[in-house]
Amino acid sequence: MQNFAEYLCAYCGEPNTTFVDVSGGTNQSYVEDCQVCCRPNLLFVAMDWETESISITTDYQE
Ligand SMILES: [Zn+2]
Repeated sequence: MQNFAEYLCAYCGEPNTTFVDVSGGTNQSYVEDCQVCCRPNLLFVAMDWETESISITTDYQE
């Protein structure tokens, strides 16, 4: 299982790489600041154990 996944910032659209703690569960959500524009992204992390892939969707953090 890979531990790093990429997502696009909800604000500026730039790609970010984030470390995912796979021991934290199949579905996780947390806030991480964009490495480009420093605005807070709400990340929804979903793990697919069959394909060992991680997908992340982002939303604005109020
Ligand atoms: Zn950004």
